[in-house]
Amino acid sequence: MNYIVFDLEWNQPEDGLKTEERLLPFEIIEIGAVKLNEELEPVSKFNRLIKPQVYDTINWRIRKMLELKPGELEKGTPFPEAAAEFLEWCGSDYVFCTWGSQDLTELQRNLNYYDMPELSDRPIKYMNVQKMYGAMNGMPSQTRALEGAVDALGIDKDEPFHRAYADAYYTSKVLRLIPEEIRRKYKAYDVYHLPKSRKTQLKLKEGEKDILISTAYPTKEALMEDGIFTALHCVNCSGKAVKQRIRWHTLNQKVYDAAGRCKDHGYLASRIKIKHSDDGAVYGEKTTHYITEEEFLEMKKNVKKK
Ligand SMILES: [Zn+2]
Repeated sequence: MNYIVFDLEWNQPEDGLKTEERLLPFEIIEIGAVKLNEELEPVSKFNRLIKPQVYDTINWRIRKMLELKPGELEKGTPFPEAAAEFLEWCGSDYVFCTWGSQDLTELQRNLNYYDMPELSDRPIKYMNVQKMYGAMNGMPSQTRALEGAVDALGIDKDEPFHRAYADAYYTSKVLRLIPEEIRRKYKAYDVYHLPKSRKTQLKLKEGEKDILISTAYPTKEALMEDGIFTALHCVNCSGKAVKQRIRWHTLNQKVYDAAGRCKDHGYLASRIKIKHSDDGAVYGEKTTHYITEEEFLEMKKNVKKK
């Protein structure tokens, strides 16, 4: 199995629309990648500039960041061709690795826009090198800039940053320095396609937090009424349900909180974030972690106030 470390650059029009109002929120204008073998040694590289076809004005911030020369993008390859070449170059046995969680989603959105074959019809397991680097420093939830990680790890800066190939190259260098234990432990899934059923909802662990990602529901109410998703579980009792002590409550209809107590491990808080998939379905991301008795009492007090 190979590791495909890739990075994308994209253009975002300044049309005043919200991301979700556009048919294609980000148009990919560059794909860069490094292929590593099982020993994490580089074996091949991929680099394509893409000729824009959706938005003809490149956002000046992006033009500046990428240091694009006038006319440079026009010489690029159209996305369908570049993406097909990229996927062929990837081969058949690989796992994607990216810095952060956005690139794999945007790749799939662009493939979908051009009616190209899907990478998968369900969540895709990948390696989020940014998360792994955070975990290596004891802070998996903190997002850091790639250049900061490169500096902290003393990696030679022999390529200019903010171009797709260079960022993939540096991400691959960071990945090689992540201890094997962390690489094994941190699993990431891209949920551009949600779990197909309630039975296959995704269970993940991030440090001391449990994360559950639901399947698609027609409405928020349907999601919040489904005990399969909303039941509270103890992080350490291999998923055993615990009694709910504070009911699900919300301030803004987007984030819901509840709490319970495991008799062996103490108080737990769960939070559900309500999210929307590209096709308009509702899904939830639930995180669960331990809290202190004081935090539990504080939550209880706030719920009573309402
Ligand atoms: Zn427990």
